[in-house]
Amino acid sequence: MACSFCDDTGWKTVEIDGVTRVARCECRREAAAATLVAEARIPRRYQHCDFSNYIAYNEQLTKALQHATRLADGFPVVERGLFLLGPPGVGKTHLAVAVLRQVIGGRGARGLFYDTRDLLRVIRSTYNPVNQTAEMDVLRPVMEADLLVLDDLGAEKTSEWVDETLNLIVNARYSAQRTTIFTSNYEDKPDTTDPDSLLFRIGYRMRSRLHEMCEFVDLDGADYRELPPNGGVDDLVTLWKLRTKASRKASLPSRSASQARAPLRDREKPDARTDLKWSGGRAGS
Ligand SMILES: [Zn+2]
Repeated sequence: MACSFCDDTGWKTVEIDGVTRVARCECRREAAAATLVAEARIPRRYQHCDFSNYIAYNEQLTKALQHATRLADGFPVVERGLFLLGPPGVGKTHLAVAVLRQVIGGRGARGLFYDTRDLLRVIRSTYNPVNQTAEMDVLRPVMEADLLVLDDLGAEKTSEWVDETLNLIVNARYSAQRTTIFTSNYEDKPDTTDPDSLLFRIGYRMRSRLHEMCEFVDLDGADYRELPPNGGVDDLVTLWKLRTKASRKASLPSRSASQARAPLRDREKPDARTDLKWSGGRAGS
């Protein structure tokens, strides 16, 4: 059916202060925004996420919401991205997607969402020892998106190739001053021996770069996935309290077991070189 305002020309006449002008019709703007949203690769289970359906029922979640709305409202004039940390199911990805959708819909930004493990898998699948074209076809949009969401950082299995690839992406975005939102289930504590620390997962070099690029924001709350279908805020508060109790119990045993593990990343010093050189190729190592 043809648009009733522009008859599908994409242009309509508007009267401004008694003067007739031609303006872009909303149907075209909506179509363009819809295309951009579709190209952002937001997973189906997060596609409904926006600020209006995010429930902030404690101080940390409220603060996180404020950081996220500030970023979305200010975009693209923002100094830093966000690093959202917290236990699984607490709403980190929800907030990241809410920002992404707002800047795509409201600003026409090129936004992109990737689960970190998925991204690495896709890059690895393009491996070709002779020709790196396919690899760059995946990497380029990731490096150049106006806003990139890199979900679940740290969950990937570590290797030298993973380190190199992630550092390449992060450094490219840092150099071009492009905004990135990361989410992670790992705690940001200066502990190289605890496998549950972000530092253990991503190393010194990446962590210090991320602190330059992002505001670190902790989220604490219930696991949304445990919420019954008709559950509300009260249920979330109850679940959150149960979780806090359980995690306190879980952290009681000594950490000697994890401390016995050899730190994987001692070779990286805090001031290690941060060159942009892409050696490429050695996928899957
Ligand atoms: Zn129209």
